[in-house]
Amino acid sequence: MLSQLRQILERVGDAKNLTIAMDTLVQQTKLVMEVDCCTIYITDENTRKLNLMATEGLLNKSNTQQYLNFGEGIVGLVHQKGEPLNLANIAEHPHYKYLPGSQEHSFNSFLGTPIIHKRQVLGVLVAQQKKPRLFSELEESFLVTLAMHLASVLGNSGLRLQISDNSLATALHLQGCPASSGIAIAPAHVVQSILTLDEVKIEKSQSISKDILLFEMMVKKCSNEFSSMALTLKEQLSKEAFALFDIYSHVLKDKTFLNAIRAQINEQHLSASSAIKVVASDYIVQFEAMSDSYLSERASDIRDVAQRLLYHLTQQVDDYIVLPDKFILIANEVTLSMIASVPREKLSGIVSIHGGISSHVAILARALGVPAVMGLSLSLTDLNKQLIIIDGYAGAMVLFPDASLLKHYQQLLNEENDLKTLVASGEHKEAITQDGFKVDILLNTGLNANQHGAVAGHFDGIGLYRSELPFMLTDTFPTEVEQVGVYQTLLEQYQTLPVTMRTLDIGGDKQLSYFPIIEDNPFLGWRGIRLTLDHPEILLVQIRAMLKANLHTQNLRIMLPMISSINEVVEAKLLIHQAWNEVKYELMLTANAFPMPHIGVMVEVPSSIFIIRQLAEQVDFISIGSNDLIQYLLAVDRNNSRVSSLFDSYHPAVLQCLKIIIDNARCYQLEVSICGELAGDPIGAMILLGLGYKKLSMNANNMGKVKYLINAVPKHELENCVELALQANSGVEIRTIFINYMDRKGLGGFIRAGK
Ligand code: PEP
Ligand code: MG
Repeated sequence: MLSQLRQILERVGDAKNLTIAMDTLVQQTKLVMEVDCCTIYITDENTRKLNLMATEGLLNKSNTQQYLNFGEGIVGLVHQKGEPLNLANIAEHPHYKYLPGSQEHSFNSFLGTPIIHKRQVLGVLVAQQKKPRLFSELEESFLVTLAMHLASVLGNSGLRLQISDNSLATALHLQGCPASSGIAIAPAHVVQSILTLDEVKIEKSQSISKDILLFEMMVKKCSNEFSSMALTLKEQLSKEAFALFDIYSHVLKDKTFLNAIRAQINEQHLSASSAIKVVASDYIVQFEAMSDSYLSERASDIRDVAQRLLYHLTQQVDDYIVLPDKFILIANEVTLSMIASVPREKLSGIVSIHGGISSHVAILARALGVPAVMGLSLSLTDLNKQLIIIDGYAGAMVLFPDASLLKHYQQLLNEENDLKTLVASGEHKEAITQDGFKVDILLNTGLNANQHGAVAGHFDGIGLYRSELPFMLTDTFPTEVEQVGVYQTLLEQYQTLPVTMRTLDIGGDKQLSYFPIIEDNPFLGWRGIRLTLDHPEILLVQIRAMLKANLHTQNLRIMLPMISSINEVVEAKLLIHQAWNEVKYELMLTANAFPMPHIGVMVEVPSSIFIIRQLAEQVDFISIGSNDLIQYLLAVDRNNSRVSSLFDSYHPAVLQCLKIIIDNARCYQLEVSICGELAGDPIGAMILLGLGYKKLSMNANNMGKVKYLINAVPKHELENCVELALQANSGVEIRTIFINYMDRKGLGGFIRAGK
């Protein structure tokens, strides 16, 4: 049956829309299982109905009832219990209720299984037969397996909702993960980043000169990319694999190929992507027809190169594409560069089909104060320009909102703005609890290139500068001189304040286009300090640049990411000293005129929690990276929307770790701060304060809120809450302790219900 299962799934996967997919599934299942009827019911939580979506066997006429209410009939029972039900004679079951107008009473045996995705019953899959009999175990497991696959098709790759589908006239609520709080109401701007050659529509150019320019730029970008990839991978690849890059480069230098594309733009007035499709397809057909196997395989090289050109073309979000005044950016996988390349004032919200609440895209969204939702089941087809609502508190998105929904969300938006005004009134104050405990509020920066200018209000320094951005915005590793410029701007801008710069932390979900790292487990792989210790030439240049940039301001602190053992610290310090000596020698400085900045490490790999004594001997400070710490502690990929509900920042184990860290840091007199997202979260900040943390580093967007809260509570009350929380059994309990407390203090508005 396995091959039949695969066959059914492939056919369903090929279907163009939801209706066809469901029809295909029931037809094929009926055929393969040799039953008389197969039906799919889909759950509608709003109307509390199980809608008849597809059937092969039931009479489906105008007088057939199209739904069962929740709890109604055997199908309702399967839905309610969330378990399969196998009955030889359905009419004997006390729950039996037949679907009016469907002729269902001609069937006796019944096998129904729930379609479950992320613990939610999305519907029920049913097989029925006239002959009264129990279905075999094999049949039962076949249907269950099919339902599981169906659930992941419906759930993960999207319900394949066809927006143009006439049946969807009412508002549609979709549930995802809350990645950045706030409400947004605006038209969707869909960025289809992984457009395949076959999917490109043939369109006329809107501006021939721009299309030519764009095309030339993309060719250059791809050539650079292929050559730098080749350079990087030279040592790691076999000769044959390495030769591939040569072939790619040749295609990109092939004048006949390039001129043919230019001609399509200039003479046929096609857009750049259409021209690539027309010419590449032509080449592919010609190559494929060749009898020589070497030559016929060149078709796939042409396809790859064309695909890469398209990739870069579709990643282009610039003034070439006319953006609406306000929009919600939507893509299968929103990237940092997508966000960086659209004007902030137009960006009302972000929806990423894939990705989790602690991904760097989510962090950037929060830093920018842009509401964001991730991990939704949705197809992007026909979504562009549709008016949508996103609720970043609840992680929800609403399609086709009606007038009353729009009014409701507009009201929430107004309330949110009122809260912002309240918070803004205290922006220039220091953060001191009502019983006099001063908290240093530090800024996280770096992911947002434009942030350096305007951060309103008082803060006590930069607690985390993520130095990746200058590396992400270039086509090659930035030079020392370039880096000096970037770092100097930052150090001078905050010259009266300490600025903690983290060394390059790529790997995981932060990739450089010119230095791709392909690994099975990138978060457990070549990341952060591991990579830069293996490439001292990168670390040395960066440290030298930081030290040079710091010459006049002397406010630099250097921080090392992803430390898991003391050896890494020792090795990194050797390199830092080497860089320091080199700069001292190069600029002919005395040691007095050139003090060594303070050096610290991030505590984000659980092992580092248990070597604080040893760390205290090596470094001046530690800073907790709660995003990664929680990811590694709970074994939950911070980017994976499937498990994002398990990414529990208030998990009792997280609380215990935070306690161990502060207790040890105190014991060994080591400065400790926290720069993960937990510090900027209202409940997180309250927990940290109650534990005794007094340096919280966060996005500018959260500062006002956290300061307002700190100024509104006495620390000893938070200590009492923490005392209780340390006894709690679950994250929910811990969260409830703090919500109740904040409610009592009249601060409940800072935590929205439903989150
Ligand atoms: C963290 O892991 O908490 C952190 C601050 O670093 P990043 O989010 O950049 O990985
Ligand atoms: Mg981290």
